[in-house]
Amino acid sequence: MKKTRILCVFILLNTFFLSFIAAQNPNAPRMCGTLYSEEDVTEIRRSFDYQYSENRDMLINAQHIKIPVKFHIIRNERGEGGISLSTINTQLENLNEIYKDADISFYQYDKPNYIDDSYFTDFSRNKEASLLSKNDVPKVMNVFCFPDMSQYYGYYNKASDNIYMSKDGMTNGSTFSHEVGHFFGLFHTHGKTDGGSTDELVARNIDKNGNRKRDCEETGDDCCDTPADPNLYIHKKLYTQNCSPSHHHEVKDPEGNTYRPLVDNLMSYNQHKYCRRNFTKDQIDRIRMYALKKRAKMQVPKEQLTNNRKQISGEIEFHLDNGTPMPVSRNIKIHQFEKTYYTGDEFSFSAKNTSRNPLYLYIINEGPTGDLIQVYPYYDYEQPLLKSGERYELGGSIELDNKKGKEIACFLFSRKKIDFDKLLNDLEREEGNLTIRLQKIFGKKLLPLDYVQYEEGDNIRFSGYFAEHQILPIIIEMNHQ
Ligand SMILES: [Zn+2]
Repeated sequence: MKKTRILCVFILLNTFFLSFIAAQNPNAPRMCGTLYSEEDVTEIRRSFDYQYSENRDMLINAQHIKIPVKFHIIRNERGEGGISLSTINTQLENLNEIYKDADISFYQYDKPNYIDDSYFTDFSRNKEASLLSKNDVPKVMNVFCFPDMSQYYGYYNKASDNIYMSKDGMTNGSTFSHEVGHFFGLFHTHGKTDGGSTDELVARNIDKNGNRKRDCEETGDDCCDTPADPNLYIHKKLYTQNCSPSHHHEVKDPEGNTYRPLVDNLMSYNQHKYCRRNFTKDQIDRIRMYALKKRAKMQVPKEQLTNNRKQISGEIEFHLDNGTPMPVSRNIKIHQFEKTYYTGDEFSFSAKNTSRNPLYLYIINEGPTGDLIQVYPYYDYEQPLLKSGERYELGGSIELDNKKGKEIACFLFSRKKIDFDKLLNDLEREEGNLTIRLQKIFGKKLLPLDYVQYEEGDNIRFSGYFAEHQILPIIIEMNHQ
């Protein structure tokens, strides 16, 4: 008995040391130093909670997202050793190519910030706080580029929400895109650890713990279209230099099934960095959802602030006929009434232009059966122009009829007059939900999501900046029973 136990411990230690050695090869930097605490994992997972909700397609089809990137270039006191501007431009192009499928683009926010201080060129993670105190720019993606980070190519720090890159990591073809993947909530294909192997089994399309989630949704990287990956850094024999899986080597999971990981995935630890080229569909969806949820309030591009900008702000308020307010909360782009309303309920609303410029207002209602109703302007004599400070109040009230389901109200605030009849015809003709149809009809005339901010509260209060010809759609969903 005693003997067996000692043997077990010995084997355990042995495996431990083997993987430790494999992961800590002193000649090569680690693939990525991103570390997640349990809280980080919980928080990231919460961002995807609504993945399977009915809004999913609407969220994914929402508009293009632009991410401002601030580069911080660390050099010695003589200004030497920093990453070059041409490398930055090439890497931004590369990033734009890779994230094209997620409909996300990146641009440099202002000029790079040069930090000429040898204290920082001698890299240590312990120096992060003092580096950030002077240089961190709010509401942009901060990328700190070091001449060398000894043991790392790069990493993303969830706590400070910043990316740290070595020159090698910036130029090896994939580490930068990989760290940006972490910035958008992606885990490694081998799971939430850095050097360890996965907790995902090869057979993972079942619900082993009986919580109504397939194992692939909550083990490994939580993505079901990335197979279980035992960590390609530890198992280098699983793939060739030509970026294909190796047929001469097999690694089995604890159940004895052979791992067949993706070897070209950007979130893998394939040691041939040039092989990491792709994201899967689930990963793209996650990037997009995380971007919409967490990255939509980034800095408005500088040119937008200086050229032709027009401040826009307003509010919309709903109340029942007895005066009770109808609270609305916001889910990304969509606003939803917090309560359900019933056939026979009577309500009214008002909308106010609180900006300094006049705004045109158009209101459409889409009923549960998809029929469009022109709410405002309804009569020829109604003028949709709201002057600065003016409030439009519905004269009378709306009574919910007996067609139950999802009611959608769409308020369009516009800088210019819209041909309302034409708009209604176009809406009848196009396919898809209201957001998608508006997108198809107005395209770039719609105000990008990252130019609008909303205040917390029961009413809808928004503010932002318009460029030429822009239209801000505010869509509110009501559950009508
Ligand atoms: Zn990583």
